[in-house]
Amino acid sequence: MCAIVGVFGNSEASRVAYYALFAMQHRGQEATGISSSDGVKITTVKKRGLVTDVFDEPTLSKLIGDMAIGHNRYSTAGSESILDAQPVFAAYQLGEISIAHNGNLVNKNEVRSRLIEEGAIFQSSMDTENIIHLIARSQKERLQDRIIEALEVIKGAYCLCIQSRTKMFAIRDKYGVRPFSLGRLKDGGYIVSSETCAFDLVGAEFVRDIKPGEMIIFEKDSNEYKSIQLFEPDPHICAFEYIYFARPDSDIEGKNVYATRKEMGKALAREHKVDADLVIPVPDSGVSAALGYAQESGIPFEMGIVRNHYVGRTFIEPTQKRRDMKVKLKLSPIGSLLKGKRIVVIDDSIVRGTTAKRIIRILKEAGVSEVHMRIASPTIEHPCKYGIDTPSYKELISANYSISEVEDYIEADSLDFLSVDALKESLGNDTNYSLVSFDGNYFIK
Ligand code: 5GP
Ligand code: MG
Repeated sequence: MCAIVGVFGNSEASRVAYYALFAMQHRGQEATGISSSDGVKITTVKKRGLVTDVFDEPTLSKLIGDMAIGHNRYSTAGSESILDAQPVFAAYQLGEISIAHNGNLVNKNEVRSRLIEEGAIFQSSMDTENIIHLIARSQKERLQDRIIEALEVIKGAYCLCIQSRTKMFAIRDKYGVRPFSLGRLKDGGYIVSSETCAFDLVGAEFVRDIKPGEMIIFEKDSNEYKSIQLFEPDPHICAFEYIYFARPDSDIEGKNVYATRKEMGKALAREHKVDADLVIPVPDSGVSAALGYAQESGIPFEMGIVRNHYVGRTFIEPTQKRRDMKVKLKLSPIGSLLKGKRIVVIDDSIVRGTTAKRIIRILKEAGVSEVHMRIASPTIEHPCKYGIDTPSYKELISANYSISEVEDYIEADSLDFLSVDALKESLGNDTNYSLVSFDGNYFIK
């Protein structure tokens, strides 16, 4: 998960990074940070908390310079230490460096053990620190070559913003698992960012997506950027970004996320028809797909469940007991609308089954006569190792139970999922997608 941003050649660089991080708060709420450089030194501010809590006017005015990189952290299991906040800063042989990383390295333990054997010491549990060590230990003269050498060692899904005092590098792994786009700021300079929704807020014009395997280099006193294709592209664009994670107003690989979600809903209606009175979404994650389902099926759409916006995403709570409570706090049904009706309920995904079970219970309590649950993605049967925070096999309900067993568990009158083929078709079938959660094809070896 996580969000990264890089801003280059703009006198308000840290402020632009701040707005971009704000637009991408959904990608991580645990910690946030910005490093800026004025060409002489790098300054970093990072802290636990939301973007608007961590940064204020005095803080931003300390982050001087016309280049900045930033990061929002999504907590993956356990590690909540401030040492795990990014960007990660270090002083080394060539000067100062700061790195922001989105993704997950699959050989992080091997690389770390080797570095430790060779005498390296680590401050955090983040795989990002591996990259810093590899760069610091390289014998190459130029930072660019040191980065390339480090990238030859690490394996996994990554988007990186690396900043020295005078340069910025934006890199996307050869699979292009996580999204990463380039924009031009209307008041000067460039921005790279995990999602294009950040561009609208900061007044940037979309230039293009950074290519899988590409490194873009920005250098002080040059108005143009350079591009190097480091690795042969082998696209595996994360399908889950479209299904759940990215903001609906973002475009990934030229496709609008909202539009693809609606397509998934339409495909779901074609694959899994049902006779019902109303289509209602699980807010907010099921809204776009539910609209698609309603349009395709001709069944009226209603916002039958109200969401309390002051409760965060349910996944953030670490324990199962608190998670159950949070779903209750977050969602409540409109009884007068739903009573006696046959309802199709649409959500984007089932992970542990907690949300679906709770929603069906509150709908039945509200007096609906039938609940047909339709899920706008295939059954999640494998944990993602490439940066989406899915739990282990043990907790993934569809890894352990058949659809009809899950149907019984969540107490639905019927339950169906989108097929993998229909998902690919909804995404346009024009590139290759990472579908590990669904097919268990761990393509990064
Ligand atoms: P469940 O309740 O089955 O464990 O999880 C399904 C719900 O969690 C769905 O409503 C879906 O929108 C949401 N969800 C799915 N994947 C993720 C994720 O990676 N992070 C967060 N925060 N929520 C997710
Ligand atoms: Mg949801």
